[in-house]
Amino acid sequence: MSNQESDIFDLIIRGGTVIDGTRRPRFDADVGIRHGRIAEIGDLRAHTAAKIIDATGRIVAPGFIDSHTHDDAAILFDPQMICKISQGVTTVITGNCGISLAPLSPDSPHPMPLSLLTGDEHAPHATFSRFADYLDAVRGSPSSVNVAAMVGHTTLRVMTMDSLDREANSDEIQAMQGLLSEALEAGAIGVSTGTYYPPASAAPMEEVISVCRPLTGTGAVYVTHMRNEADGCIDSLNETFEIGRALDVPVVISHHKLQREVNFGKSTLTLPLIRAAMRCQCVALDCYPYDASSTMLHTDETKLQGRVRIATSEAHPELAGRDLGEIAEEWGVSRVEASRRLQPASAIYFSMDENDVRRILAFEETMIGSDGLSLGEKPHPRLWGTFPRVLGHYSRDVGLFPLETAVWKMSGLTARNFGLTGRGTLETGNHADVVIFDAATIKDRATYDTPAVAADGVEAVIVNGELTWWRGEHCGARAGEVLVRSRLNQA
Ligand code: ZN
Repeated sequence: MSNQESDIFDLIIRGGTVIDGTRRPRFDADVGIRHGRIAEIGDLRAHTAAKIIDATGRIVAPGFIDSHTHDDAAILFDPQMICKISQGVTTVITGNCGISLAPLSPDSPHPMPLSLLTGDEHAPHATFSRFADYLDAVRGSPSSVNVAAMVGHTTLRVMTMDSLDREANSDEIQAMQGLLSEALEAGAIGVSTGTYYPPASAAPMEEVISVCRPLTGTGAVYVTHMRNEADGCIDSLNETFEIGRALDVPVVISHHKLQREVNFGKSTLTLPLIRAAMRCQCVALDCYPYDASSTMLHTDETKLQGRVRIATSEAHPELAGRDLGEIAEEWGVSRVEASRRLQPASAIYFSMDENDVRRILAFEETMIGSDGLSLGEKPHPRLWGTFPRVLGHYSRDVGLFPLETAVWKMSGLTARNFGLTGRGTLETGNHADVVIFDAATIKDRATYDTPAVAADGVEAVIVNGELTWWRGEHCGARAGEVLVRSRLNQA
């Protein structure tokens, strides 16, 4: 390459303050991008570029990695992914909580919560019988964000078992192992489980360990929506650690939380337990910055305690946004009966303590993941607000941690935990996933009443070198790639 060519960039971000995703203190520098990579960070005043963005007074950071999503189908049917891009998210990790869109055959049943991904009866999304077919479909019709995909244990059960209310037998376990190996070969970055949910709750720890055996030695991760996040949270943590040790793989505890009032404050017990486990094995965790959760509408009394707000209902779409208690009263039935009549449905559960949320968010190693569900008109606001809420509300306004830490929790830390090489930090040679935001004004605007609203303060988002979001508008770029595990990357 001649000197002249090396002086020219595709894009220069000038005059900004770099927070590089490693937790080191911010510094002023220009960022030069060429061929989708970060070509130089420093004083580039003497250089030219096809496009120049003036970032004076702004933070320039690595694009955020959403460690916990259910975007498996959304990236295909809503490829612009404005709900994520508008927050500065450039990579989503899919296949969480035991549910993934692949492998599923066209005639597989879609029990809740799997149907949160597969769409409703009237408008089902495409399913893919091989994991490789799913990744090919994503590559063939790229979205605006990068995707690192996991395979779900519940999905594997649905594919191989004729009834889900029991433990898998050895033939079924072998079949699941085969499907998992195929998925890993195709590029899945790990497995997730959702033993909290009915289709997988009958699976004992031994089944999970056997099914996940192909993970061992691959570098892929074991990610879990644990069996219990309420009264049994300590037992569930121990089960998770034991699975990780038995398989000798890194574990990720999804959306760590303590549900039900009797468990409020127990993060003072769970976090030290997690810290202690981290000394002996690889443990990671994520959290979303809200004190309400959201998932399928349960019909189990113990899971319906506290205030429950309907997010979607196929039977009664007009009741989205209403409280279950009110609906039950109007109908003159119990909350359980009202939940049955609303099915299939999803809901928002106001079941956490703000102090636990803050303690878990502030725990050094906690990653940020939205857990957003792209469903209906009244989704949980975390779908649109998670990342700006951590940067604006929790870091700047509440002062929970410095901005450098906040950025690290949504970029460098996440890339490290999921083995996403060349992402998550602003370094020469890395892929050019970049967000430019205003630290003084960044703020989530999504609320429970109006959840589908883009945040303030995210000025520009660049994915693989392509300007994708600019001052409140999507630029049309769909430069997202399928990310595979480091070990495969290096092969
Ligand atoms: Zn979950």
